[in-house]
Amino acid sequence: MLDINKIRADFPILTQKVNGKPLVYFDNGATSQKPKVVIDAIVKYYEEINANIHRGVHTLSQLATDAYEVSRGKIQNHINAKFPYEVIFTAGTTHGINAIANGFASILKAGDEVMVSALEHHSNIVPWQMLCEKTGAKLVVIPMNEEGELILSEFDKLLSDKTKIVTVNHISNALGTLNPIKYIIDKAHQFGAAVLIDGAQAVPHLKPNVQELDCDFYVFSGHKICGPTGTGVLYGKEEWLRKLPPYQGGGEMIATVSFEKTTYADLPHKFEAGTPNIAGGIVLGTAIDYLNEVGFENIQAYEHELLEYATSKLLEIEGLRIFGTAKEKTSVISFNIDGIHPYDIGTIIDKLGIAVRTGHHCAQPIMDFYKIPGTIRASFAFYNSKEEIDIFVEAVKKAKTMLS
Ligand code: PMP
Repeated sequence: MLDINKIRADFPILTQKVNGKPLVYFDNGATSQKPKVVIDAIVKYYEEINANIHRGVHTLSQLATDAYEVSRGKIQNHINAKFPYEVIFTAGTTHGINAIANGFASILKAGDEVMVSALEHHSNIVPWQMLCEKTGAKLVVIPMNEEGELILSEFDKLLSDKTKIVTVNHISNALGTLNPIKYIIDKAHQFGAAVLIDGAQAVPHLKPNVQELDCDFYVFSGHKICGPTGTGVLYGKEEWLRKLPPYQGGGEMIATVSFEKTTYADLPHKFEAGTPNIAGGIVLGTAIDYLNEVGFENIQAYEHELLEYATSKLLEIEGLRIFGTAKEKTSVISFNIDGIHPYDIGTIIDKLGIAVRTGHHCAQPIMDFYKIPGTIRASFAFYNSKEEIDIFVEAVKKAKTMLS
């Protein structure tokens, strides 16, 4: 059971007033708020051990290196990777996907196929389109249905020996759909295709087990799980990380350099060129510890309650339509009200201290599917409350009256 008052006290920003009203933060899909332990850990790093890592013999450099590697180990345990060097620190989900798409340029040839889904964020579409342009491979799309679920019978039909990589999100940011990724991974493997899972929206709600899933790559951002921006993780199976060329060249990622030839460092450094976000990487471990203390079972049960509560309250509003009604979904509600532009509602409720996202949510193909310009998206985290939902629903009603 979650003690919501205790949890809320961990997040300094939640006591803020915005536009003179208590902040109601329902834009967790865009980024999460940070608990005090995470904020304190950033300050502590810069006050006490700031130094460059993997380079110096001096004490601070070793302390920083140790803390960075401890964090890598925490992430390894958290996602159940087999080896710590299968965990690559990145700047975020976008960075991780680009690193792999770039690596596949050395593998794909004209006529090969890259499969994405209709439910993807632009970050999991555009890098693959760029890859296809470069290699002559073809982009193939798993379609979705009206409820916002992937149509698996179509997926089965699209798979073939030409499919080299399948890349789908674990949870859709625009609709909240929880995708059947285990099915997708196993089926794709039967055709010898690699599978990348975009876990950006999943890791705030669940603990992925990459060995059980048997995915080849799993990527996510630190800022959506109470960690700092500019942090992220690319998990890759050892055999794939060894096979793929590095994404960027520079310091840290080499074994030897001469003008004739450079050899690359071993994993994970081969994929970690340059000075990384050291404080961020360390503190991502702190954020993961914090979430595990709250407990993912507690988080899921509580967020489900919030989702059900908010869904039934919102549906009382006449003319309100929810997009994304998958049987398996997380705490995201994307909706519109007949005849009113989502942006107008977002603007009015912002004046009442409420933060939601409006627009296409970096998922324009989903909006095209529903033939709408965008939606209002309320995405809940474990530190939100039913009282906040009441305030939000009243604000939406007020905005509707003003705009009708
Ligand atoms: N994929 C999904 C499903 C997302 O929700 C997001 C962030 N909105 C991203 C990718 C991109 O993450 P980032 O901007 O942190 O790289």
